[in-house]
Amino acid sequence: MVIVMSPGATDAQIDAVVGRVTDAGGEAFVSRGDTRTIIGLVGDLDRFHGLNLRALSGVAEVVRISTPFKLVSRQHHPEMSTVFVGAARVPIGPDTFTLIAGPCAVETAEQTFEAARMAQAAGATLLRGGAFKPRSSPYAFQGLGEDGLKILADVRAETGLPVVTEVVDVSDVELVASYADMLQVGTRNAQNFSLLQAVGDAGKPVMLKRGMSSTIEEWLMAAEYVAQRGNLDVVLCERGIRTFEKATRNTLDISAVPVAHDLSHLPVVVDPSHSGGRRDLVVPLSRAAIAIGADGIIVDVHPHPETALCDGPQALVDADLRALATAVRQLTPLADRRPALPLA
Ligand code: PEP
Ligand code: MN
Repeated sequence: MVIVMSPGATDAQIDAVVGRVTDAGGEAFVSRGDTRTIIGLVGDLDRFHGLNLRALSGVAEVVRISTPFKLVSRQHHPEMSTVFVGAARVPIGPDTFTLIAGPCAVETAEQTFEAARMAQAAGATLLRGGAFKPRSSPYAFQGLGEDGLKILADVRAETGLPVVTEVVDVSDVELVASYADMLQVGTRNAQNFSLLQAVGDAGKPVMLKRGMSSTIEEWLMAAEYVAQRGNLDVVLCERGIRTFEKATRNTLDISAVPVAHDLSHLPVVVDPSHSGGRRDLVVPLSRAAIAIGADGIIVDVHPHPETALCDGPQALVDADLRALATAVRQLTPLADRRPALPLA
């Protein structure tokens, strides 16, 4: 069950709802949005019905939710959400198309600056780049850690691009949040529930990749872990799933975009780099993402993919990057979207 408070509901009115629910043995999770507050209830539904919460002042609506995710569900929140990232307030949402681009991993200051300039020239308004890398092999480059975060902050200062970067461990959340504008949770941590709760507490928007073996429902339940901590600024990222097909690194589940949009008010972006795993597929998959109604894409770019320490074969450079920029510029108006420019 979800309690939707009226716009402008006071703290005392919110506390009154929470108090009544907890007195009845239930749990109440408060999420404060830009325009209104919603309260997710966990416990005995019949008991909650008996509390007549609708009659409390400040309560706009009491919604019974049939899905295992509540706060991220569209059942009580039919209009789609927009998430704003960074001081520049770059939007990710239903009216815009956000190009997020940058190196898979931060390797050096020069490489990151160059990749950011390439990304910006292609129309990107958010910079991606991993400082903590969740590598499948313990012998692969693990990222520069805090030094990488400092490089990202320098590049942001130089280019104005807000930064999306991954956090892989609960113990790093505070550190990464002190540099990043948006925290990424990767596919390998998509069901790391304590990490999801910690990023939910960190006060920054979250990009939640779909687990490579997660169903859409599991992905949305993962988002619910973040939302339950009071953070509704979550962007879902479809990045391909494991199937029997070996021609691609993962299988881009393009249908996940409209399915997730139907079930959840959260924005959905597509990662055509980690799904295909091949440079030649990035532009075609991006076209598919635009056509199917994704709210943006997140793409790997690298000034010298042949020497990249991580994911060189999927990184865009030169003509491929120009082709991506052209595809985004030409196709997004057909999908009724405008570029996601900084608002601030
Ligand atoms: C990444 O975006 O750098 C990454 C590791 O992606 P994923 O978690 O989707 O594999
Ligand atoms: Mn990568």
